[in-house]
Amino acid sequence: MIFACFRRMCILEYHMTISEKDRMFMQRAIELALNAEKEGNPPVGSVIVLDNKVIGEGASNLIFPVYNPRGHAEMNALDRVDNTLWNKARHMTCYTTLEPCCMCFGRLLVTGIGRIVYGAIDRKGGSGCLLPHLPVIFENKKPEFVGPIAADQCDPLYQKTAALFNKVVGNFS
Ligand SMILES: [Zn+2]
Repeated sequence: MIFACFRRMCILEYHMTISEKDRMFMQRAIELALNAEKEGNPPVGSVIVLDNKVIGEGASNLIFPVYNPRGHAEMNALDRVDNTLWNKARHMTCYTTLEPCCMCFGRLLVTGIGRIVYGAIDRKGGSGCLLPHLPVIFENKKPEFVGPIAADQCDPLYQKTAALFNKVVGNFS
């Protein structure tokens, strides 16, 4: 019940805060996701933006060329951000086609990124349910968590991601 209420809150937030720029950067994340799919990886893409400029891009490389459990789009995008910019993390937004998992959300949280905008809900692995349960140290550093803003395009990508994950990675666990 609490979970359902939280989802509703996210959707309400989406109506209040989404902009054309948000949609534009999400389209770039979707492009990256589609490129990942062509390489045999789950179609997930992410973009980190500061002052309306892309400062890091990443796509999933979870499966190809080798199984890499940290090869999530958000992790790869964060790796590309110049270290001199981290003092402005509160002004950064991470756009990602799929609601971040616990690993990616943890890193986004610790880096201090101010806003996370996602395309589709990850019904099984999404980290939104963690927001009300963060350690005290993050009380005033909670990122704005906005989504789903592009379910029409990103839900099908999520379905493909889940199917590929179950087929390939499911065999490892
Ligand atoms: Zn992740």
